[in-house]
Amino acid sequence: MSDIRLYMLQTGSVQCKVHNIKMNQGDGAPYEIPVPFYVLKHPKGNMIIDGGTAIEAATDPRGYWGAAADVYHPVMAPDEGCVAQLRKIGLEPEDIRYVMQSHLHIDHSGSVGRFPNATHVVQRAEYEYAFTPDWYAAPGYCRNDFDRPGLKWQFLDGDHTDRLDFYGDGSLIVLFTPGHSPGHQSFLVNLATAGPFLLTVDAAYTLDHWNEKALPGFLSSAVDTVRSVQKLHAIANQTGAQVVTGHDPDAWPTFKTAPQWYE
Ligand SMILES: [Zn+2]
Repeated sequence: MSDIRLYMLQTGSVQCKVHNIKMNQGDGAPYEIPVPFYVLKHPKGNMIIDGGTAIEAATDPRGYWGAAADVYHPVMAPDEGCVAQLRKIGLEPEDIRYVMQSHLHIDHSGSVGRFPNATHVVQRAEYEYAFTPDWYAAPGYCRNDFDRPGLKWQFLDGDHTDRLDFYGDGSLIVLFTPGHSPGHQSFLVNLATAGPFLLTVDAAYTLDHWNEKALPGFLSSAVDTVRSVQKLHAIANQTGAQVVTGHDPDAWPTFKTAPQWYE
């Protein structure tokens, strides 16, 4: 695993309200959250995990995201899209073999269809729900991102793929963590020197969610959300992993971001 690198990146931020992130909290106060994504340089195929907000949303949020942009306002420079940022760490679009999706919400699906040699990996339940969302969840999915012809998909099936050792070398363990969305998944990345990192993604938006002080303002099942957090706690305790939550404006700056990396 000594030649594996984990890069942490971000496609700008999103302005919203506290209650959009922490259910029933904040009294309408504004809140700005980072939009992280990750890259694994791996000898068996480079991977982008999520990819943040699509670059089109930087210049035309309402046109590209639709009604969601009225609640979640993307703050993003034209050079903060995932493709441009990967070039800064020496990767061309052709160099990406896997696009791994934690889930398909609008601030995570900006990489889909931008890497011509990539297989897109997602939970089947998430993919199907993205095309048939319930009314309140519909603005969270942007079909402009994932409803594209000619994409190569690999579907994972819930509990059957839980704790999937993706590369077969223990470097990336896929963890099924539904609740925030029906097919959400989190990731345990095991590095030779830096050790294990637990990327909760939106299974825990912030450390308040991690510490059971907040439910996400946007979810598909409160019960599943709570149980997924508890499951991730058990994994963090067993492995001693550093926990990286999905959108914490205070915790995110404590990590090394690209062009630096962990290995
Ligand atoms: Zn989400």
